[in-house]
This record gives sequence, C-alpha cells and structure tokens, in this order.
Amino acid sequence: MTTIIYGNPHGRVYYMHGGKRVYMESGKKSPGMPQGWHESESDELPEIGIHEGEWVYNMLNKYTEHLWNTDSPLFAKTQVMFNSASEYPPKARAAAVNLLLKYIDDDAIYIEPHCNASGNDWSDAQGHKVLYNEAASKFAPMLSRCIDVNKAPDTKERALKLAALSWALDEVNCPAMYAEMFFMTNKYETAIAQKYLGIEGSYLGLQEFHNEVNDD
Ligand SMILES: [Zn+2]
Repeated sequence: MTTIIYGNPHGRVYYMHGGKRVYMESGKKSPGMPQGWHESESDELPEIGIHEGEWVYNMLNKYTEHLWNTDSPLFAKTQVMFNSASEYPPKARAAAVNLLLKYIDDDAIYIEPHCNASGNDWSDAQGHKVLYNEAASKFAPMLSRCIDVNKAPDTKERALKLAALSWALDEVNCPAMYAEMFFMTNKYETAIAQKYLGIEGSYLGLQEFHNEVNDD
C-alpha cells in the first residue's frame, strides 16, 4: 500500500462579498469560469475568473472520489491543504510533509498539483510541466515520468526536469513531484482539464510507478 499525499499550496479559499468571489492568496487566475464548473448548460465560458487554489481543491476532491470508486488495494490517500503559499513556502511544505511521513507506516509519495497561467487574459500558452529532485528519493524521477507520460495526453509537454533547489523537493523524504498541469489561461486546455482533469491518466501513472518500484 502506498499513501499518496497531495499538497494544495494555494489553499486559502475565497468568500463571497456582495455577490463577488474574493480570493485570498489563491494563486494564479483563469480569466473565465471553466465550462460545467457549476453544471452550467452554457457552451460559453462565463467571464468570471477562478483561481488556482479552488481549481486544485476541486480536482483533488474528484480525484479522491475516483480512487474510492476504483477498487484498488494499492493506494491510500490524504490531502494536505496548506493555508497559503506565503505562510507555507516550499521549505515549510517539505517540513510539513516530512512530519506527516513519521505517522505513515507504508510507502508514501508526495504530489503537488499547480495550474499555470500566462497573463490575465485568454492566451495561446499551453502545456504541462513536471518537476522533481532525486536528492531525497531515487524514485522521484520515475514517479515524475510515470505521471508525465500518462497524465495529460491532450496537453503538450513543456518540461520534465530537475526542480530548482528553491522548490525544496530535494528535502521531501519520499518520492515527490510538482506538476503544472495545464494553462488555466488557455481555453482549449481549460475545457479539456475541466472534463477529465487528468484523473484517469495520473491514476494509470501511479499504478505504473507502483509496479516499477515493486518489481525490483
Ligand atoms: Zn501554483
């Protein structure tokens, strides 16, 4: 059994103020609401932005639901909601994950999903990026590769690379990766991400990783 620890570093939620969403440090912003976000019938993307923290939170809830519905004995999962990226910069997140690892008897992996953005309006920038650092675990590149090739068949790969030390992935005491899943400023990617959010693909990636680690 492998415990999957997900971190949402832009976790500070929004509140409604005079009918408007007000976000506190919720990361990057999409210029419009993804289609179907609140079961809208419209084909148009309504012009109300949505922030990274809210998107990742929604994605992780759907992902957890998928794992529960998938009758797999391989994975347990937990979600860490960091209050904000300024209170929990990468080194603090690594320390928090390492503390959590002390209470987990099984193998564990850490995945930090992000959404990318380019500017404040819709634009052509697209693709996904996966970062890792094998300093704390030799399995980090394998985890990143398994998720990268399976996760998002419809988004272009921008990078699969060693993370800068400032991301502190070298300090996480288990295989760890950071993913910019897609551009929330790209209409095409926003629409496909809303449909499946890379959920089934990244699950395949996790299974592949699990098999590779347990084969040797
Ligand atoms: Zn982010």
